[in-house]
Amino acid sequence: MTTTEELLASDRRYIWHPFTQAGTAPDPIPVARAYGAVLEDTEGHQHLDMISSWWTTLHGHAQPEIVEAIHRQAQTVEQVIFAGNTHAPAAELSRRLAHILPGGLNRTFFSDNGSTAVEVALKMALQYCQNVGDSGRTRFLAFDGGYHGDTVGAMSAGVSSQFFDPFNDLLFPVDVAPVPPTFDGDTEIEKREQEALARLDTHLEQYGHSTAAAIIEPLVQGAGGMRMHRPEFLRAVAHRLHHHGVLVIFDEVMTGFGRLGEQFACLKAEVTPDLICLSKGLTGGFLPMALTVTQDYIHDAFLGESIDRAFLHGHSFTANPLACAAALASLDLLEGERCTRQRAHIEQQHRDALAELMKEDVVTRPRVYGTLMAFDVELGDDSGGYRSAAGPWLKRFFREKGLLIRPLGNVVYLMPPFGITDDQLATAYDGLREAVRRLPHELT
Ligand SMILES: *Cc1c(COP(=O)(O)O)cnc(C)c1O
Repeated sequence: MTTTEELLASDRRYIWHPFTQAGTAPDPIPVARAYGAVLEDTEGHQHLDMISSWWTTLHGHAQPEIVEAIHRQAQTVEQVIFAGNTHAPAAELSRRLAHILPGGLNRTFFSDNGSTAVEVALKMALQYCQNVGDSGRTRFLAFDGGYHGDTVGAMSAGVSSQFFDPFNDLLFPVDVAPVPPTFDGDTEIEKREQEALARLDTHLEQYGHSTAAAIIEPLVQGAGGMRMHRPEFLRAVAHRLHHHGVLVIFDEVMTGFGRLGEQFACLKAEVTPDLICLSKGLTGGFLPMALTVTQDYIHDAFLGESIDRAFLHGHSFTANPLACAAALASLDLLEGERCTRQRAHIEQQHRDALAELMKEDVVTRPRVYGTLMAFDVELGDDSGGYRSAAGPWLKRFFREKGLLIRPLGNVVYLMPPFGITDDQLATAYDGLREAVRRLPHELT
């Protein structure tokens, strides 16, 4: 038996954690068990996972149907090279997704995480242009505030997020168009949308013919601060891109699989992209896997006699059968009536709680899409953004309250697993209320 102290000592000595300044960070939570929306630490304390463990845990931790599916699959085929081989879980998953995704999105390329799904989409788009003899299209367009992952291509597409300063010299150039974020009660959004669209028009008139693809997080820019835009805006953007022959890539790594209420943001917005990137919630949060799904006309442009026309890309664990089995079990749950009802129920509770929170002066820009709710905290002279002083104070406060909530700078959001109970949600809302009441006194 390892004691908590031994575990933390090994961690401190041997582990390098992601997105962490180890020089100042508190000890990590030593998680011993996880079930539903609860993380239980080695001392038996419970922490409510209000961010679905970085947006991956879809239904709940240790969801029995998914546990069972992985167990069963592990006894048949656990892993097999996917070049030259195939298997039922991968074929069945691709077939089912083709029926759920909007028309034409029916060719699935497998990889391992959100970043690789994005890399695949960018590479596919560029090679597609070459394969169809349109090799003058070499530019990429991304959107201000977007985040697409931490590998070099994904960083290039997310360059406006400013996480990547040390690596700027590595990144390939990407054009950046504006997105006007909105919130409940925003009266000037149409004007800001018109301005953004006018700037996009100007850009596309000059560079549309030399642009291979545009990548956007549809409806919500996640890591950039849960910035939401309207379906109307997304439709107008996609229409313009298609008019200029630019491929549209939707990065639904966060928004996919029911997070925004509907199964996918593209369905909610009624826009069909040319390529879509999926990951985080795909396996219900059990195993790492990602998909880049595209249309037959893109896939078919890679057919021919020569290997040079093919898409020469792959990863060791492509289409891992265990992950596919988990994804199928997760889809069964997601498509069930209970889950659909539960997502609508969470949305309603978010809206009621947000109305209460809005009574506090520091709470601004309330916004909800499905099971995701967010607001900004605004404190007199705080600069806001990722370096806001409110963020670290809030994170500490929530941790003391047994709530796993990680503000993005001054943006506070909840994205619970769908199986969360009303009581657990109420506990989280109480924590939010206490936090926003105390914040002005603590930080001034
Ligand atoms: C998290 C995220 C990624 C990157 O996914 P990883 O699995 O962390 O590589 C890409 N795009 C979006 C929208 C994301 O939220």
